[in-house]
Amino acid sequence: MFIVKKSAIVGILLAAAFLLTASLSLYVAGTVNARHTLFTVVLDAGHGGVDPGVLGVSGERESDINLQIVKKLQSLFSDAGFSVVLTRKNEGGLYGLPTQGYKRRDMEKRREVIVGSKPSVVLSVHQNSFSQQPSRTGGQVFYCAGREADAALAQSIQARLNALSGKSVEALTGDFYVLNCAQAPAVLIECGFLSNAEEEAMLKSDAYQTEVADKIFEGVLGFLC
Ligand SMILES: [Zn+2]
Repeated sequence: MFIVKKSAIVGILLAAAFLLTASLSLYVAGTVNARHTLFTVVLDAGHGGVDPGVLGVSGERESDINLQIVKKLQSLFSDAGFSVVLTRKNEGGLYGLPTQGYKRRDMEKRREVIVGSKPSVVLSVHQNSFSQQPSRTGGQVFYCAGREADAALAQSIQARLNALSGKSVEALTGDFYVLNCAQAPAVLIECGFLSNAEEEAMLKSDAYQTEVADKIFEGVLGFLC
């Protein structure tokens, strides 16, 4: 009788411990997501519309790859509880009609979205090209000179992209409108070289785009968390 009672008590205690653990993990998950909702990330797919950006050796358009990687980043950040804002949501540019001054209007619209979103971080996604040296490959991250937080974000992402490419390049400073206009840490990410035939083929594949997006996402989390 006593033994039966004892095992019943042990059973109840175990069940209680299980429930407590389960609710604690739910609480922790909820806390993490609640914290992420405090973060807004602006994802800026470079170029679009009449501006294809650089063209790959087999004709791949930078603007298309930029948008595809941005869409993958959008899912990653949304699933993690971030608030996500896209400057360009489709193939079109942000300039209205492709008349004179379209490039300026496009950049001003991007600035408007970035400033209006009050972001925690800004990621501008691009692809590189250097036809004079077609052997060049790998990701390259840029940030505004003299901005410490931006440098830390850039290095965090660069380290992950280096792990993917097997290279050991440093994040570099650069003078880009979308970085200059952001008050929050902002980086411009060249995911790889479309002037290298092999990397162009990888960059247009869904599997490699997923890997690149995962690395960028990890780099941002490494910076924020
Ligand atoms: Zn570009």
